[in-house]
This record gives sequence, structure tokens and C-alpha cells, in this order.
Amino acid sequence: MKYIVVLGDGMSDRPLKELGGKTPLEVAKKPNMDFIARNGRCGLLKTLSGDMPLGSDIANLTILGYNPKRYYTGGRGPLEAASMGIKLDKEDIALRCNLITEKNGTLEDYSGGHISTEEAKELINFVEEKFGTQDIEFHPGVSYRHILVLRSDRYSADIQCMPPHDIVGKKIVDNLVKPSSESGRDTADLLNRLSLESKDILESHPINLNRKKNGRLTANMLWFWGAGKRLELSKFKEKFRLNGALISAVDLLKGIAVYLGLDVIDVPGATGYLDTDYEEKADKAIEALKKRDFVYIHVEAPDEAGHEGNIDKKIKAIEDLDKRLIGRILNSLKSGEFTIAVLPDHATPIEVCTHTLDPVPFAIYSTERGGDSVKSYSEKSAGKGSYGIKEGIEFMNLLLGR
Ligand SMILES: [Zn+2]
Repeated sequence: MKYIVVLGDGMSDRPLKELGGKTPLEVAKKPNMDFIARNGRCGLLKTLSGDMPLGSDIANLTILGYNPKRYYTGGRGPLEAASMGIKLDKEDIALRCNLITEKNGTLEDYSGGHISTEEAKELINFVEEKFGTQDIEFHPGVSYRHILVLRSDRYSADIQCMPPHDIVGKKIVDNLVKPSSESGRDTADLLNRLSLESKDILESHPINLNRKKNGRLTANMLWFWGAGKRLELSKFKEKFRLNGALISAVDLLKGIAVYLGLDVIDVPGATGYLDTDYEEKADKAIEALKKRDFVYIHVEAPDEAGHEGNIDKKIKAIEDLDKRLIGRILNSLKSGEFTIAVLPDHATPIEVCTHTLDPVPFAIYSTERGGDSVKSYSEKSAGKGSYGIKEGIEFMNLLLGR
């Protein structure tokens, strides 16, 4: 038996008056998702909980069968570090380090004007030269997304950091790192000092002078968030006795795969946006299944459309995912035995442009199991499915029919 999970990030939504009271999933043409719902079984899944961050990292760990209450260490830093091949010792702390644009004391842009990877690399290497020590390491990543590692048990992850995309237009001084307890105070002070001092050296760097001259936003400050320690996760293969692979454009998901021992399949045309190469992702998944029992395909585009509050883009992302990826996979699987599931990790409703706690619709079709009475895939119809409402952590067992 082959198992395929197709994860449309942030795909579910709420009824919109612009769509006559329907959701993007209800309006989109998606015959393949509907096929899975019609021939399989549906339900609603609780993938997030109110006492933890509403993040894709937590939601995807949950869906993959790993309880975040037990394993999560506080932020995305260690997951992204893993996807970049950075090894962490038990006491080390990894943080996401954004290159941002600061202007007149406010956070103008969380991405430093979507700075290019080449420019960013030079800036981060420069920062490493100036601020790096034996236990403070800067690692350049892609575009504005980089990693800071603190390698000493003097530091603590007991701090509160503001994700920069949540404080655009807000004052820097009101959003600095705060200690959650006395043990986090030195670390918070260090991070705030690095952040504020980075402005002085980055602002006048030739790369930024050049960007300014060309009328582009400068990447003139570092912003730290997503602090966490190494996660202690058992391997997916030991837990479920399946050889698996994961396909995603996003470092966060690739990092989860590294921790779980799932093979990370690179798809050169995967962008994490609406222009992603769906066909290539489908083909890589089909190929991955020849030698493996399980493949997890993550598609970021619907979430991005949700954050932008763009209804048309969200519908387009759903339709492309359905036709160009799921349809292609279903076609290739016509003969063999397989089980395929479709679901989002969380809702990113257009009306709020961010992640919410709403349970998500899921559908599972297996060539060797019967279906229920649900005829199409949507938030409303899946709510009438025979699985009812389930905890996210139960999903893998439902998929495997165990
Ligand atoms: Zn997500």
C-alpha cells in the first residue's frame, strides 16, 4: 500500500460575502479533491490549540503524528536550521534572523525589500565578521531568511520574540525581545543589542547604499525570532514502519523532514508561491513512491493568498493544486493499491489574513476501504463526514487505517 498526503497550506477558509456566502474551497473547481471526498471518508481535524502558536510548524508536526505539546521547543529556528544542514547540540539555541527594513524607528518591511540571496549573503557574512564569536554564529540562508545560533548553555530560549511580519509599521522599541523569566534576561539583552547595533553597520554597507541609490528598500537591520532548541523527535520510520519522503518549497517543512528522517525531495521549480511548478512536484512524488511507501506533499500557495487576503489567488491556488498536482498523481496511480488524503494544515481565512484555530476539512480515499455519504470536499461537507471531529494527532492512524 502506498500512502500520499497532499497538504494545501492554509487552504480552508470561512464563508465570504464576496462569494455569496461560500468559501474559496466551495467555489473552486476541484474535481480531484471531490473524487477523494466522494469515494473516501471525510471529517474535521483540530490541528492547532489555543495555548500554542498558530503556526504551520506545529500544525504539520501534529498531522504527522508528533504531539507538539511534547516535542515543540518554542520556535521555528531549529527546524529551519536543520533544513540548512546546521547541526545543533542539546543546549544550543537557533533563531530565525530576518534582514528587515527599519525607518524612523519603525519596522517598515519584514523582508528587507525581498533582498536577493546574493546580496543577503554578503550582508550576513559581514555581520558574522563583526558580531560573530565562538558561541554566536550567523548562517546565511535564502533572501531575507537567515539563522543565528547561540552555542552556550549561558543562553536561554525562555524569551518572547515578535515575528516581524506581525509588526510591520509598528515601533521597534515597543517590540524588542522580552525575557519570559529571569533566566531569559541575558539572552534578550544580547539579541536586542545585536539587533540595534546591526543598524549602524548595515545601513552604511555598500550593498545598502547601492539599493538606496536604486530606489529600493534597504536591508538595514537584523530581527531575531522563533527561538528554540533542538527537537528530540523519534524517526518516522520507527514510529510508523514506513519509508517516506517529503516535498515542499519551504525550509520549515524541509526541517521537519530532516528531524523525522523523511527524505527531502528537491523540486527546482517549487517556489512556495502561485507560480510553483505543480506538475514537477507531482512527478517527483510519483517517482518517490516507486521506492517508498509514504509521500507528504506540501503546497504553500493557498496560505500566501490567504495572508494577502486575495480571494481570486486563493481560488486559483486551489484549482491549480487540484488539477495540476492531485489530478496528475491520481492518473498515475490508476492501477495499484493506494491511500490518498487531502487537507490543509490550518485555515488562513481571507477575512483575517492570518492563521486561525478553525478545525480543517480532511478527506481520505483508499482503494481498499469504503466511503461515506459526503459528495464533495469543503469545510461544510467534510463536517458531515463519518470521521466527525478528530484531534490532529489521530490523523496518521486514520490514514493508515490502524
Ligand atoms: Zn501553514
